[in-house]
Amino acid sequence: MRGIREAFPILHQSVNGKPLVYLDNAATTQKPRAVIDALVHYYERDNSNVHRGLHALSMRATDGYEGARARVARFIGAADPCEILFTRGTTESVNLVAQTWGRANLRPGDVVLATEMEHHGNLVPWQELARASGATLRLVPLLGENGEGGLDLAALDSLLTPQVKLFAFTHVSNTLGTINPAAQLCAKARAVGALTLVDAAQSAGHQPIDVQAMGCDFLAISGHKMCGPTGIGALYGRRELLEKLVPYETGGGMVATVSYDGATWKPTPERFEAGTPNIAGAIGLAAACDYLDSVGREHIAAHCHELGRIAYERLSELPGIRLLGPAAGAERSGIVSFALADVHAHDVVTFADEDGLALRGGHHCNQPLMHKLGLTSTTRASFALYNTAGEIDTLVASLRRIQKFFA
Ligand code: PLP
Repeated sequence: MRGIREAFPILHQSVNGKPLVYLDNAATTQKPRAVIDALVHYYERDNSNVHRGLHALSMRATDGYEGARARVARFIGAADPCEILFTRGTTESVNLVAQTWGRANLRPGDVVLATEMEHHGNLVPWQELARASGATLRLVPLLGENGEGGLDLAALDSLLTPQVKLFAFTHVSNTLGTINPAAQLCAKARAVGALTLVDAAQSAGHQPIDVQAMGCDFLAISGHKMCGPTGIGALYGRRELLEKLVPYETGGGMVATVSYDGATWKPTPERFEAGTPNIAGAIGLAAACDYLDSVGREHIAAHCHELGRIAYERLSELPGIRLLGPAAGAERSGIVSFALADVHAHDVVTFADEDGLALRGGHHCNQPLMHKLGLTSTTRASFALYNTAGEIDTLVASLRRIQKFFA
C-alpha cells in the first residue's frame, strides 16, 4: 500500500547492517507519525489532570480524553461512548470483567466457556475466577494436528448448555492466525442465554470491528497492537450490563461523594476508572483510530490477509517446516507460526536478527495450545499494514540460510 511506510519513522533504519524487516506485529505494532505527534502535542500543549480542573489546560486534557472515548466507540461501532472503559489493554479488560461481572454472578454449577486457542490473557483470569467462584471452565476444542481445522463448532454446540454464563473467545488467534466467526459464535452463545466476551487484541488493528453487528456483550482491545501507544486499551461493554456492575478498583476519580463512612460512585464509565488515567495514551489511541481509518480497515485487512497467505505458501516450500493454523488457500490473518525441524525457535529468531528481521520465538502466551500440538515453541512472523511481499522474500532467504547453517 502506497505511502504507508513513510508514515512510520521507526521502519527506516538498519539492524545489523541490514534494512529492518519488522515482522513482530502480533507482539506490538509500530506507531505512525500521527500518533507520535498526538502524544508530543498533548505533553507540549495540554498536559494536565482530567475531570477535576476548571483551568484551560485541564479542560483541554478532559476534552481530549473524553473525545478519545467517543473516537474509540465509533471505531468499534459502539452505540454510546459510555460503553467504553479505558484500561491498560486486553489483559486488564478481561480481568475487569472477571473481577466485576464474574465475581458477582458466578456460582458453583455455572460454566465459563473459552477455547483451546486462548492467549493466557483470556484464559488465566477465567481459571482463577473458576477457582474462586466454584464455577467450571470448559474449553471448545481445536481441530487438526496443526490447529488447521479451527474451532470444533459441533463440539461448541454440545458445550453450550444453559449452565454456560459466559463464552470468552479470541477473534483472531495470536499463534495460529485463525479468524474466528465472531458473529456466529456470539449468536450461538446468545441462544442459550450466555454472555460473550471477544478478545479483539489481534483483530482491532487489522480489520473492521462492529460490536453491534457482531452481537457481543464485551470486547477487549489493546492500543499498542493497533498502532497506538502501550499502556492503553479499552473494554467495550453493553451499557445495561456495565450499569449493573460494581467497580473492583476504588479511589479518587470514580467517586461521587465520600464520607468517613463510605462512598458513592460516579456514573459509568468514570466509576470504572479509579485514579488518574492514561490521558496521553487515550489521546494517542484516538490518533491511531484516525490513522487506521484514513488508510481504511478493509484495505488493511485485505493486505494483511494476503501477506499471511503468501507467507504460508512460500514457507511451505522449505524442507522440514511445520506450519500451524489454516491450511493453504483457507482464509487466515497476517499471523504465521511455524517450527523448523532441528532448529529451536530462539535460534531462528537470533539468526534472523542478523538479517535485520524482527520475528518472535516462544510459546506466544499460548502454552497449553503448544502442549496440545506437541510443541514447546514456534517462530512467528506477523504482518501489519506497512509490511510488503518483498519482506517475505527476505524472511524466506533468511530461513534458508539458517537451515543450511544448522544442517
Ligand atoms: N489476547 C491476545 C489474542 C493477544 O495476542 C494478546 C497479546 O499478545 C493479549 C490478549 C494480551 O494483550 P495485552 O498484553 O496488550 O494485554
